[in-house]
Order: sequence, then structure tokens, then C-alpha cells
Amino acid sequence: MPFNIGVPEMILILVIALIVFGPGKLPEIGGAIGKGIREFRKASLDLTRQFNVELAREAEAAKARQERVVCAKCNVENPSANKFCSNCGTELPVLTA
Ligand SMILES: [Zn+2]
Repeated sequence: MPFNIGVPEMILILVIALIVFGPGKLPEIGGAIGKGIREFRKASLDLTRQFNVELAREAEAAKARQERVVCAKCNVENPSANKFCSNCGTELPVLTA
């Protein structure tokens, strides 16, 4: 999180709100702030989840790129995604993950 709101900051905000809006409007404002914080937390949680999914996907793609198949005919290493040897064109065995 870019900023952390601790108890001292909360008190400061409440005091400022009390001065600016007066005691009558505080419950209303408090409810609105609470709702805002809840929505912000939910949004950041969604973002974190989405980021982790992307990270896992990227790690999987990197792993797939690292897997190599050695050509039986010329012994040249090929990416497992290749169907044919890049050196001699021989069909490569398919890796079943
Ligand atoms: Zn080959």
C-alpha cells in the first residue's frame, strides 16, 4: 500500500473532520469513509489476485520455454513447443506434461 493509516492519523482526521463539519455530520461522514475504505481494500485485493494469476502464468510460460527436446537424429536441442527439429526437420517426440 502506498500509505498506511494508523491510529494517530485516524485521530487527526477525526479531529479535522470534527472541526470542519461539526459533530452532527460525523456519523454520516464516517459511514462514507468506511464504505470508501472497504471498496478500496476490495479493489486492491482484486488487483493482487490478478497480479498473482499473471505471475503464475508467466512462470509457467518461462518453464515451457526452458523445456527442451533433443533430436534423436542430430542431437540438437529444440524447444518443447517445436514439432520438428530446427536443424534437420525430423519430427520431434511430443512431451506430455
Ligand atoms: Zn535434428
